[in-house]
Amino acid sequence: MAERLPVVLVTGFLGSGKTTLLSRLLGRPELGETAVIVNELGEVGIDHHLLRRVDERTVLLGNGCLCCTLRGDLADELRDLLSRRTRGEIPPFRRVLVETTGLADPAPVLNTLLAEPVVSHHFEPAAVIATVDALNGEGQLEREPETLKQVLVADRLVVTKTDVAEREAVDTLAERLRGLNPAADLLEASFGEADPALLLAPGELDPRLLVLPDTPPHADVEPFVLFIDRPVDWTAFGIWLTMLLASRGADVLRVKGLLDVGAPGPVVLNGVQHVVHPPEHLEAWPDDDRRSRLVFIARGIGKDEVEKSLAAFDAAARRP
Ligand SMILES: [Zn+2]
Repeated sequence: MAERLPVVLVTGFLGSGKTTLLSRLLGRPELGETAVIVNELGEVGIDHHLLRRVDERTVLLGNGCLCCTLRGDLADELRDLLSRRTRGEIPPFRRVLVETTGLADPAPVLNTLLAEPVVSHHFEPAAVIATVDALNGEGQLEREPETLKQVLVADRLVVTKTDVAEREAVDTLAERLRGLNPAADLLEASFGEADPALLLAPGELDPRLLVLPDTPPHADVEPFVLFIDRPVDWTAFGIWLTMLLASRGADVLRVKGLLDVGAPGPVVLNGVQHVVHPPEHLEAWPDDDRRSRLVFIARGIGKDEVEKSLAAFDAAARRP
């Protein structure tokens, strides 16, 4: 039997720093021969634009979640990557990194890798990495069953945002994680930096964890996207977003987007529950669409509500 290609899953709750970690990893020379599958809940993808290495080996699976609605799509994409590689249409790769959605349960994703004959013949699950946010991780472990499941299944637990969190909070979280999953390697990543050799080393797959979930596919979480057709005043927008998150932050699991602030490139916006991270300026737009786009992943908040609130705020801001 031919050598099987390792598949590494990168999980972690919404906004816990999966994309940052992945982006730093892919910048390392030893990660050159890597195919990447990025899964996002919304129909408009933001994360894959931020990986800084989008080539023919990077695949976006949008508008659904790998652990529930897109299981077959993962198998299709892996088979497709393989046949394109065989035909010489894409550069070679020796491993696949899969970035799951923040809500994904890793177990059914691993099941897909093991159950589909062609896929399991050519690929093998190698390790599960879970990012846990030092600022929000404790709360998420309490409230979000997905976070707990990701932590329990992981071979590597990466505590992220240690550069912005208090040392004490990081230590408390690390202790909690060690208690929950003593078998996992525990790493810290400030600014998404972590040792690739340590992260990607093969892990131990615990078959007891590979049970299929009986829960419906994240039914209460509704991703939606807002497009804004003209440049946005960054200061006013920041105030509006801060107010929104202050009042509804527990239900806005994630807001991310690209904003046209009148500069040559967009501002990357990144909000996780009550926290808005410092904006990052990109030098250029990643594609031809120059409209500001904001992806909301929220519970019990509709697009209408957010749109109305933004419009009202915008009108007030324009009044002399
Ligand atoms: Zn899912």
